[in-house]
Amino acid sequence: MPCSILEKVTREYLTNSPSETKKLARTLAEKVLKKGPLQTKATIFALTGDLGGGKTTFLKGFAQGLGLKEKILSPSFVILKRFPLGAGQNSSFQNFYHLDCYRLENPKEILALDFKKIIANPKNIVAIEWADRISSLLPREITKLDFKFGDKKTRKITISC
Ligand code: ADP
Ligand code: MG
Repeated sequence: MPCSILEKVTREYLTNSPSETKKLARTLAEKVLKKGPLQTKATIFALTGDLGGGKTTFLKGFAQGLGLKEKILSPSFVILKRFPLGAGQNSSFQNFYHLDCYRLENPKEILALDFKKIIANPKNIVAIEWADRISSLLPREITKLDFKFGDKKTRKITISC
């Protein structure tokens, strides 16, 4: 991911199937592992956009790219799930967290789940669906992914960081 501290970098991707979306996500996950942890906080991905836009589909591919075998589910009813990243992944990350804020009534509810601690730990990779619902709790330097419905099979995914 070409991120710069001097200017915002934005890339747009059009995908024509769920598997293309997953492939894009796998590539991103592999880059994240290669780059390694940040120094001062978790590596955070904020996902926003249309219902059915492909956020969960993307994260299924992302989890694969992180080397996870366990299935990512649409966790709208779960809010937060932790996936330990096994040793031998050739990476110093320890956990992947999948959050879905769709059902949050109040952003503060997420704080009860140790959210501050999770995003403060450089060994965590954190992906948040419906991140706009807790934007006031997120640091500024995160990677944003926005998902727009095209037609039945096409999605526009905008990645900025
Ligand atoms: P969200 O989490 O954003 O609500 P999901 O990933 O759960 O979205 O659902 C996306 C739906 O759209 C899935 O049923 C998936 O099969 C379908 N789909 C069709 N084309 C695409 C595409 N290009 N990328 C991602 N999903 C797609
Ligand atoms: Mg979803």
